[in-house]
Order: sequence, then C-alpha cells, then structure tokens
Amino acid sequence: MRVAVIGTGPAGCAAAISLRQLGREVVLLGDGIDGVGEQLHPAARPLLHSLGLTDLPGQLDCVGTNTAWDSSALFEQNFLSHPFGNGWLLDRDGFGETLRKAAQFAGAKLRVPSRILGISSERGGGSHWNLKLSDGDEKCDWLVDATGRRGAVARLLGVKRRRIDRQVAIVGWLDANGSDDVDLTLAVEKVEKGWWYSCRLPGDRRVAGYVTHARPDAKNWEARLRATQHLSRLVQNYRLEGPLSIRAADSTILEKCYGRGWIAIGDAALSYDPLASRGLVSALDQGIRVAPLIGAAESQLAAWQAKLEATFNAYVLERSKMIGKTPE
Ligand SMILES: Cc1cc2nc3c(=O)[nH]c(=O)nc-3n(C[C@H](O)[C@H](O)[C@H](O)COP(=O)(O)OP(=O)(O)OC[C@H]3O[C@@H](n4cnc5c(N)ncnc54)[C@H](O)[C@@H]3O)c2cc1C
Repeated sequence: MRVAVIGTGPAGCAAAISLRQLGREVVLLGDGIDGVGEQLHPAARPLLHSLGLTDLPGQLDCVGTNTAWDSSALFEQNFLSHPFGNGWLLDRDGFGETLRKAAQFAGAKLRVPSRILGISSERGGGSHWNLKLSDGDEKCDWLVDATGRRGAVARLLGVKRRRIDRQVAIVGWLDANGSDDVDLTLAVEKVEKGWWYSCRLPGDRRVAGYVTHARPDAKNWEARLRATQHLSRLVQNYRLEGPLSIRAADSTILEKCYGRGWIAIGDAALSYDPLASRGLVSALDQGIRVAPLIGAAESQLAAWQAKLEATFNAYVLERSKMIGKTPE
C-alpha cells in the first residue's frame, strides 16, 4: 500500500517515519514552509525518541515559561520537576530539516517543494487517488492530510471546519548582532486587546508575536512591543529584521477527520490556541498514532474521530475558563 503524506511539518514527518517503521511505502510531500519559532514542551521527548531522534541539534533548551496574565507580575513555571527535563526553543526551519532528514533516512520518498492542487479518485470510492501537484502528479492508495490549519486535502474533498474563533498572530523576528541574552524561557504578556509572546531562537535571534481576536493591524507593531511592561526589556537589544507575518492562531476542528482512504492529523485535524503551547506535541503524537490506522477498519477510524472530538471539547471547556480573562 502506497501512502502519500501531504505536509512536511511535525505531524507529516512523524507520520512518514512511523509508517516506514510499519513497512509502508511512503511519499512525503509539501511546500516545505515551516512554523514561526516556538516552544517545544518536554512531553515531546519520548515521542522524538520513538521517531529515532535522541537529540535536536542546533536548538536551544527551554527551562520554562514566564507569564504575566492575571496580574502585572511575571509568574514563573519551570520544567525543573518535569520527568523529561527541559523543553526546547525551536528554530522551526532547523527542526523541519531534522524531521525531514529523519523521514528520508527511514525510507520515505521526499518531494519538496510540492503543493497539492487537486485530488481525484480512480475508483470513485476513494481507494486509489490521483494527486495533481505543483510539480507533477502522484498516485497513492491512502492520503494523510498533515497540511496544518489549511487542511488542504480535507478542503479539496469538501470537508468543513468548525471554528470557535478567528484569532490571528502577527509575528516578527528580531536580530541582536551579538547579544548577552541568556533567557531560556517563553515569555507571555497580556495586553489590552490580546497578548504578546517572545522567546530566543538559536543564533542571537528572537521571535515575538502579538496574538489577537481583533482585526490584525500590523501598524506600530514594533512600537507596541517596545511599550509592553516585560517583553520590552527582553527585546531591548534587538532590532526588527525583515517583514512581519500574519498567521492563523484559531481553535478549529474538522467536521470529519477521516474518510474512505484518507485521514487528517495535527493542525489539519484540530488546532489549538498558541497560548496552550500544545500544538507541536499533539502534531508529533498524532503523526505517530496514525500509522496503524492506515487501512484499518471503519470502527477504528471512528474511534480516532471520537477521541479527537473529546480532546477538542475538553480543550474548549478548559479554554473557556480562561476566556473571561482573555481579551476578545
Ligand atoms: C504564532 C504561533 C505560535 C505558536 N506557538 C506554539 C508553541 O509555543 N508551542 C507549540 O507546541 N505550538 C505552537 N504553535 C502551534 C504549532 O505551530 C502547530 O501546532 C504545529 O506547527 C502543527 O504542526 P503540523 O505538522 O500539524 O502543521 P504545520 O507545522 O503547519 O505543517 C503543515 C505543512 O503543510 C504545508 N502545506 C499547507 N498547505 C499545503 C498544500 N496545499 N500543499 C503542500 N503543503 C501544504 C504547510 O506550509 C506546512 O509546511 C504556535 C502557532 C502559532 C501560529
């Protein structure tokens, strides 16, 4: 059975490696665009191990978070007592490269950059797919949608997405040109109409993002960052480099996460508020768990869907407790 995994982010790469571990023929394809730079929680450590990754070369350790949410004081949570030790502050391009190399090493055929543009089914029932790609065609028996919040495969198949908000993040990268910044935490600070986050990235850089439910307005982004109470201190020796980027940061779930011959994983199946800092672990976890479901009985796929829905409903409830405190 030939499986095409669409999307070369953490979910897609984890799926490709896990499918290869089960002896499936795998083509892993995607546009190769990586995330913005994030905190990877220590809970990822055993998942990375099961993918054959004992180390993340070139990434920074993350010792915890510093959050100013309900009060103007910073609240520190560290990973000292976490059974898996520290997390990571990730340069996503580097993390993506590490994962894609591991997928190739596991025997997946890598096709990057490649965008999926169309899907048709040879036997009407969807057990044999023809993929129209930006760089040619591909045939497969099963499709894994790991295209992140875009959910490109599900969208092409006409599956709708349930959204509980329209949150976005306006993200910028800052450069220090030689810095004595030794901070190894993810910092979060609530402001009037949203919240800011920032963390160091490998190579004297920082990422900062303004997350809001309001209409995205990149005007005065840097001035507003420098006017924050806590983050301003962290970025004081940094200069904004390059253009800002607007990213979806909404909480969503596909109405149907699988169908005959296809399944969605990671953000493509369900996406979290970045405040939860759980998207990456969830993407890796689903990528690993999906492998035995390829070609599985309908009842197993239905159980997968039910589990995702239960997880999402519990998350929405948990989040709604914060919402009163979240500026809409
Ligand atoms: C501002 C922000 C901050 C965040 N901070 C954190 C954090 O601190 N910790 C955390 O755990 N999570 C965080 N997240 C969430 C995290 O980035 C995602 O949950 C994670 O990247 C999901 O992985 P994925 O593999 O499912 O999707 P992605 O990483 O989005 O990968 C999907 C891939 O598919 C590609 N693709 C899309 N459409 C097509 C197409 N048509 N054809 C081919 N390829 C396509 C995409 O370009 C991308 O390369 C944050 C998200 C945002 C927006």
